[in-house]
Amino acid sequence: MKRTIVLIVVLMSICVTGIIGLQLFWNYQSYKNTLQFFDHSVNDALVKAVAKESFKRKQDIVKQFENWLADTSVVTITADHNNRDSATVFHIQDTHPKFVEDLHRQTQFGLSDFKERLNHITPAAKKIVIKHFAGRILMQDLEKGIVYNYTQTLGDSLKKAFYASRPSLHLINQYFKAELLKKNIKADFVLNPGKQTSLYLTNKVNADFRKPYQSVLIYAGIEHPDNYFFKAMKWVIITSLLLISITIGCFYYTVKTLFSQHKLSELKDNFVSNMTHELNTPIASIKITAEALKKFKHDSETREEYLNIISYQADRLSNLTDQILNTAERVNSTNSFELLNLYDVIQSAIGDIEPVLKDTNSNLDFKASISDVEVYGDRGMLSNALVNLIDNALKYTNGRPIITISLNCIDNIAFISIADNGIGIPSIYKDQIFDRFFRIPNGNLHNVKGFGLGLSYVKQIVTKHKGFIDFRKNDPEGSIFTIKLPIYHG
Ligand code: ADP
Repeated sequence: MKRTIVLIVVLMSICVTGIIGLQLFWNYQSYKNTLQFFDHSVNDALVKAVAKESFKRKQDIVKQFENWLADTSVVTITADHNNRDSATVFHIQDTHPKFVEDLHRQTQFGLSDFKERLNHITPAAKKIVIKHFAGRILMQDLEKGIVYNYTQTLGDSLKKAFYASRPSLHLINQYFKAELLKKNIKADFVLNPGKQTSLYLTNKVNADFRKPYQSVLIYAGIEHPDNYFFKAMKWVIITSLLLISITIGCFYYTVKTLFSQHKLSELKDNFVSNMTHELNTPIASIKITAEALKKFKHDSETREEYLNIISYQADRLSNLTDQILNTAERVNSTNSFELLNLYDVIQSAIGDIEPVLKDTNSNLDFKASISDVEVYGDRGMLSNALVNLIDNALKYTNGRPIITISLNCIDNIAFISIADNGIGIPSIYKDQIFDRFFRIPNGNLHNVKGFGLGLSYVKQIVTKHKGFIDFRKNDPEGSIFTIKLPIYHG
C-alpha cells in the first residue's frame, strides 16, 4: 500500500514538474519571441521615421528647385527640334552667367513621353519640364546623395541648400512615435539619449543626405522591452501563474489526502486490534473476580475488595464505550449539569481508580489549596475526564508511577493539575495529542494499548464545561495536564 502511494506521488510529482516546466519554458519562449519582435519592430520603425523625414527635406529642396527653374531671372528654358523626325530638345541655361566662359553652357535633354515638336518653349511645356527636371531627375540625384551642376547658378544654390539641410529631431520624433503606434508599441523613448543610459538602444540610422560619405546618426533609447513584454503578456502570465498555483495546490491537497487516508486506515487497523485488547482485559478481570467470589467463601474485607475491582472494571468498560461511541450525545447535552464540589469529584475519581493504584504499586498524592470550589457540570463526565488522565499517567510510565494531583484557584478559575513522572510527551506533539485517534508514534518503545481517544474525549468534556486543558513538561521528567474550569458563583 505504502509503495503504491509512494509510486503515485512520484508519478504525480513528475507530471506536476513537467507541467510547470512546460509552462515556464513556453513563457520563456514567448518572452524571447516578444523581445525579438520588439527589437525588429523598433528598428524598422526608426528606419522608416528617418526615411520619411529625409524625404520631406528632399521634397522641400525639390520645391525650391522648381521655384528657381520657374524664375526667368535665374535660368532660361528654351525648346527646339533639329530636323523633321527628331523630338523636342529642351535647354536650360543661366540667365546671367557669372563667368564669360559659361555663356553658352547649358543642359539639354529630351523627354521620351513628350511627343510634341516645339520650336519654342510654351508655358505648358515649361511646366512639364520643371516637373520632370525637379521631381524626377533632381529627386534621383538627391536619393543618391549627389548634386550636379546642371547650370552654374543652379548647382551653387542647390549645393548650398543641400549642405545646409540638417535632420529635424523633432520631426523624426513625431514620425517614430507614429510608426511605433502602428506596430502597437506604446513605449516612452528619447532620441540620441547619449551613452550613459539604462534605456534599450536601437541600431543607429544615418539621416544625412550625403550618405554614405557623411553621417548624422540617429538612434533611440526606449523603455526596456521587459516592460513591453509584461504589459503585452500580462494576462497570459497571470493565467499561467494561476494555473501553476492551482496545479501545485491540487497536487498538495491530493498528496495530503492520500497520506491522511493511508494514516486513517492504519489508525483503523490499530483501533480494531487495540479495542479487542482493551475490552477483553476488564471483561476477563470481571469474569475471574466474579468466579472467585462465587467459588470461595471470603471474609467481608476481601469480598469488598473484589467487588471494588468488579465495579472499577465495569466503570472502565463504560468509560471505554463512551469514548468509542464518541459520547456525542452525552457530551453535547447539559441536561445532567448540576452544582458540584470539585474537591469531592476529584476524591471520588481517585477512589474509582484506587484498585489499579494498588495493583501497580503507584503513589498518588492529592494536594488541594481549597476544598469548597464549586463548578457547574456533569459529575460522571468530569470524573471520567480525571480517570482518563490518571489512567494515562499510570499507562505511560517509566517505573513506579508517582502522580500528584493538585487543586488551586486563581481569580474565578479552578486549576486541576495531574502531574506524573512518566515517559513524557515530546513538545512537537503538544497540540496533536488532543486530536482524535492520535497516538505518539514511538514504534514499539512502549507496549501500551490505546485508541488515541482518551485525551480528545477529555478535551471534549472540558470544553463542554467552558474550560480549557493544556499540557506542559514536568520537571525533571513526565507530564503535567492542567484543566481550567470556571468557578460557579451563583
Ligand atoms: P491512548 O492513551 O488511548 O493512546 P490518549 O488520547 O489518551 O490515547 O493519548 C494520546 C497519546 O498521548 C497517547 O498515545 C500517548 O502517546 C500520549 N500520552 C497521553 N498521556 C500521556 C502521559 N501522561 N504521559 C506520556 N504520554 C502520554
